[in-house]
Amino acid sequence: MQDFLETNITYLSGVGPKRAELLNKELNIFTFRDMLYYFPFKYIDRTRFYKISELDADLPFVQLKGTIKGYMTEGYGAGKRLVADFQDETGTIKLVWFKGGKWITGSYTPGIEYIVFGKPGIFNGMINIIHPEIEASSKLAERISSSLQAQYNTTEKLKNHFLSSKAISKLIGNLIKQLKIKIPETLPAYIISKYHLMDLHHSLHKIHFPSNPEELEKARYRLKFEELFYIQLNLIRFKTNRNRKSKGFVFSSVGENFNNFYFHNLPFSLTEAQKRVMKEIRKDLGSGKQMNRLLQGDVGSGKTLVALMSMLIAIDNGYQTCLMAPTEILAGQHYQTITKLLEGIDIKIRLLTGSSKKSSRKAIEESLLDKSLDILIGTHALIEENVQFGNLGLVIIDEQHKFGVEQRAKLWQKSLNPPHVLVMTATPIPRTLAMTLYGDLDVSVIDEMPPGRIPVKTMHFFDSERNKVFGFLRSQIAEGRQAYIVYPLIKESEKMDYKDLEDGWDTISRLFPAPEYCISVVHGKMTPAVKEESMRLFRDGQAHFLIATTVIEVGVDIPNATVMVIESAERFGLSQLHQLRGRVGRGADQSYCILISSGKLSKEAARRIEVLVRTTDGFEIAETDLQLSGPGDIEGTMQSGIPFDLKIANLSKDGQLIEYVRNIAEDIFAKDPLLENEQHLIFRSELTRLFSQRQSWSNIS
Ligand code: ADP
Ligand code: MG
Repeated sequence: MQDFLETNITYLSGVGPKRAELLNKELNIFTFRDMLYYFPFKYIDRTRFYKISELDADLPFVQLKGTIKGYMTEGYGAGKRLVADFQDETGTIKLVWFKGGKWITGSYTPGIEYIVFGKPGIFNGMINIIHPEIEASSKLAERISSSLQAQYNTTEKLKNHFLSSKAISKLIGNLIKQLKIKIPETLPAYIISKYHLMDLHHSLHKIHFPSNPEELEKARYRLKFEELFYIQLNLIRFKTNRNRKSKGFVFSSVGENFNNFYFHNLPFSLTEAQKRVMKEIRKDLGSGKQMNRLLQGDVGSGKTLVALMSMLIAIDNGYQTCLMAPTEILAGQHYQTITKLLEGIDIKIRLLTGSSKKSSRKAIEESLLDKSLDILIGTHALIEENVQFGNLGLVIIDEQHKFGVEQRAKLWQKSLNPPHVLVMTATPIPRTLAMTLYGDLDVSVIDEMPPGRIPVKTMHFFDSERNKVFGFLRSQIAEGRQAYIVYPLIKESEKMDYKDLEDGWDTISRLFPAPEYCISVVHGKMTPAVKEESMRLFRDGQAHFLIATTVIEVGVDIPNATVMVIESAERFGLSQLHQLRGRVGRGADQSYCILISSGKLSKEAARRIEVLVRTTDGFEIAETDLQLSGPGDIEGTMQSGIPFDLKIANLSKDGQLIEYVRNIAEDIFAKDPLLENEQHLIFRSELTRLFSQRQSWSNIS
């Protein structure tokens, strides 16, 4: 039977080599299983009939009962079409065909009652339906049993080869008819009964041909349950295995360096959230298991300090540590911040980036091997081949979403025993999404800002109101503040974007001329040295403005900068806007975020801007982002590893179910960590089938 589901789609009745090829290419359908798991994206209630008088062009699909009054041909050339007047007792609409006219006039006779089905549109002020489905109303009784008609996504290419939604439905119908035996279960019987699930065989049948809404709901629930459950099972299996296999270094004591720092150098007291997170980390580090922890905290919540204190614990226990950041600017900034915080404490700390000189690079490499270097801070340069640590005990990765999975994997290989890993991200991820994206990591959250922060005021202006913004900038600068002006940068149109940035620079330097004003520019095409010089000017307070593309998005910390102007704000995603806003509001003064957009906003862009103006709560923003754009658009999710396209579940809508099945999966592993129980053998084979090609990622996080 297993084999049966793996049968090539060419063997399905109705599918020849040509159609098979199309199904492969267009829909990724290769086997009977793929076909069965090609789920409808919606259902249309075919029990409801509309009256013509009720129609408007906003309705989705409608079903009408009536008669054709007569046919006529209209238009010329490509616009030539067959048109029929179709009427019921409440009115008349037009049915329109651009091809197949002869067949239509031969098949449907005026005066006979038909059922017409299609999407109403409007043309010349009249409602019409283009290429409707038509059937004799006498046939109605035959199909009434499946009142919910499945609709499948299809493509132009498929439609051109007569593989419409209806045709796909028919193929799936054929397949179900061809099934001689029951499709074998993929969940143990006790799970099915305990959680009141429909069995797999029926679910796969009813998801395509539901008899009623209740049945459809049960089928959908079962299939979603299964999909999400196996993802969680897989994640928890990795976690369980990793914890069993790799003994973590034990950092048993908090020593001199930590205490020195804590009692003498720490410039403020920790927030409650920072204290809680430190406790969680210390527990991990002392547990004898390898730590794999995700630290979430909004921009400015004080993650760097947590990172530093964790590093000090590692050093106190005789290990080296490294901190990896996604950009040179950020790495440099970490280096400065941390060096300053450690003033007077005897810890050797170095910076390594792509632009480090050969000689210093060499010195760093040596001091890593002879274990005299305690902290290495840097960029991707850290993961290069020749960077080898003497005894790496803890790796900290800042702004996790900028790093690919493979890059993280390389860090793991830097020592015999895998080091402890702390991944820090400022992108707040809704809890249930984190459960899937980082489901095998433990999660700590800093959900409290350091005291004394004044929330950033956010305002929105249209392009036409630009002068008000310049006036405001002038007044802020007169008070001694600095401002960022950010332009979008989208890969596909780099040229145009730089033009935006250049134009922006022109305008600003005209309105704020030298020598009275000083303007810094930073963008991705600069050499690191030039970039660093621009950053320095701004950091040291010499430049009033920093004009930049989104390279400044991550981590830059300049308390005196109180204004963030975001140009073409409608072109940024919500999380990105929030990140940018996080660059200001870091000092004691009131800060401002000014969004400038064009006058024409899409509904979604307007919503993004509205949310940003209304709230500074990163988690609310993340939730909204998830609702608006779906998980795929949240930065970095692509690389953080949903193992396959979800076929039926939805990470933004099925949060509750994710939590539910995660608990079930955790329970299973708590009782049977090796999946040895007879009833659980099925998990092993399913996990292999679903995730085997991705096995190599298993050690990555
Ligand atoms: P994140 O990396 O989470 O965005 P940072 O670690 O850069 O945030 O911290 C932002 C600012 O807040 C820094 O200037 C830092 O010195 C300061 N800060 C961190 N923790 C505290 C605290 N407990 N009390 C006061 N200020 C703090
Ligand atoms: Mg930071």
